[in-house]
Amino acid sequence: MAYSPGFLGAILDSISESIVVIDGVGNIQYVNRSWSEYGDTNNACIPSDDWHTLNYLTECDKASAMGDEFGTNAGSGIRSVLNGSQSEFYLEYPCHSPDEKRWFMMRVAPLQLNEAGYFVIVHKNITERKLAEEKVSALARIDGLTGIANRRAFDEFLHEECRRCMRLGKPICLAIVDLDHFKMLNDTYGHQLGDDCLRQTASLLQETVNRPSDLCARYGGEEFALIWGDTSLEQARQLLNQFLRSLSDAKMLNIHSPAGKYLTASIGLTSMVPTTDSDMDELIGQADHMLYMAKANGRNRIESQDKSTPGR
Ligand code: GH3
Ligand code: MG
Ligand code: MG
Repeated sequence: MAYSPGFLGAILDSISESIVVIDGVGNIQYVNRSWSEYGDTNNACIPSDDWHTLNYLTECDKASAMGDEFGTNAGSGIRSVLNGSQSEFYLEYPCHSPDEKRWFMMRVAPLQLNEAGYFVIVHKNITERKLAEEKVSALARIDGLTGIANRRAFDEFLHEECRRCMRLGKPICLAIVDLDHFKMLNDTYGHQLGDDCLRQTASLLQETVNRPSDLCARYGGEEFALIWGDTSLEQARQLLNQFLRSLSDAKMLNIHSPAGKYLTASIGLTSMVPTTDSDMDELIGQADHMLYMAKANGRNRIESQDKSTPGR
């Protein structure tokens, strides 16, 4: 059965993917309805009216010159398919509007038709999948018990923040907080009450981090870690003293603890201006060592080491 051009055109106009066909130098030869409608309603970087006079590559280059990363990547990807150095090109890109997050994918593939070489460009809205991925990725970085950042989020954040402080030449502070005689609390009151104490401690610690360059994470069982970027040791110590006061005010009973009647914490704090990537490990090592000192010196205290100033 031979299909009429009208019939085939109607099929192409009925699908939700946006389709553009260009020739070997980028001149637009065909667009389907979805493509024109998308351009009309979304301020797309490529105008949808007068499409038959437009060159897709030129429009990508114009967007690129305006600082649009999609324009740059799309332009070079399409060119690589046009000149045969790549058999297909695939790109996922964000295209957020002021009131809605959106992502699209773009696929470019050659189409050989009666000696003439064309290229089909398909755009598809992949927002639903991206939002689901964002949710999964956020969940993978949250500690299930306390609802704060987990170890994985901590590792990533510390790396980013160390890098940033390295570039700025600013100090970064790291504290490791370990609850005192927590095993005793579990043994006395049961694991569930222990869990409640961990949740309460996490929310008190969360109050010490307020800026985008700060993070409070559950580091391990009854251990927490705090990062403050671009912060002096003294500022961090004040925040931690405030936390120890709040913890004491919370009066979580740990009646058999040798450190006192109520739950307390020991803290190792350190500060440095990172200069190499390996400084991140040194920062953790020092905070760990300071925590060891806090335990050895009687618990319920902060021990700190300032490595941010030369000579200390
Ligand atoms: P120290 O003062 O030397 O730190 O003594 P500690 O008892 O706190 O330290 P230890 O390492 O001996 O014990 C840690 C305890 O933390 C043991 C473990 O049962 C408890 N713990 C770890 N994770 C959880 C958790 O998710 N929930 C509860 N309830 N307890 C936990
Ligand atoms: Mg511990
Ligand atoms: Mg402990």
